[in-house]
Amino acid sequence: MTDEGRRSDLAAALSQVHARIDQACAAAGRPAEEVTLVAVTKTYPASDVVLLAGLGVTDVGENRDQEAASKAEQVRLAGATPRWHFIGQLQRNKARSVTRYADVVESVDSVRLAEALARAAADRAEPLEVLVQVSIDGDTARGGAAGDDLWRVSDSVATAGRLQLGGVMAVAPTDWEPDRAFELLHGLSERLVKVHPSATAISAGMSGDLEAAVRHGATHVRIGTSLLGMRNALR
Ligand SMILES: *Cc1c(COP(=O)(O)O)cnc(C)c1O
Repeated sequence: MTDEGRRSDLAAALSQVHARIDQACAAAGRPAEEVTLVAVTKTYPASDVVLLAGLGVTDVGENRDQEAASKAEQVRLAGATPRWHFIGQLQRNKARSVTRYADVVESVDSVRLAEALARAAADRAEPLEVLVQVSIDGDTARGGAAGDDLWRVSDSVATAGRLQLGGVMAVAPTDWEPDRAFELLHGLSERLVKVHPSATAISAGMSGDLEAAVRHGATHVRIGTSLLGMRNALR
């Protein structure tokens, strides 16, 4: 497809996603400015990120370090400067790499990972924003902290020098009603904000369930498929 063809496809999809977000906000009695769209560009090329940035997308999400690192570099060389959100499971030995390009790491779910990121971020000019990933159903194998771990991880991020605790992130379990999952997440966010008043972000909602997430206070929705199309690989 030509660049122009891709651009107009992305523009059409983007305006549909914005319409969904606007409608969900109106239904929830929330101003649309409260919700930031994070375009999840995993598996798609840097050229798509550049086109999306040209269409006004300010935030992009990636879930694999190697792919994200090279894409971020290509996008930077093309002159676009979106905010990069890392949203995938992260091994501690990738912490240094991620802190080079990421503005936000949304998937921090252990004290050890928080500590590794804090060490890696020590020489950054800007603090690294961190969201603590919550495991809604307690099955932490798929990522996320559950139970008291959530508070341990949050406290460790909040007290680490170059990290800034931004809030919480979650993926609704496939076998849960999204409303039930995001209501639970909202409750945890309220508890977190009591202890850490600036940690107000709630990253929740994907292509299939963004309306439910907005109903329950999402400040960030992470949208891949509805924006860029179906991905080939299961990821
Ligand atoms: C891939 C991914 C998304 C985007 O999912 P879509 O259903 O394609 O919108 C959101 N969040 C995370 C953590 C992801 O890995």
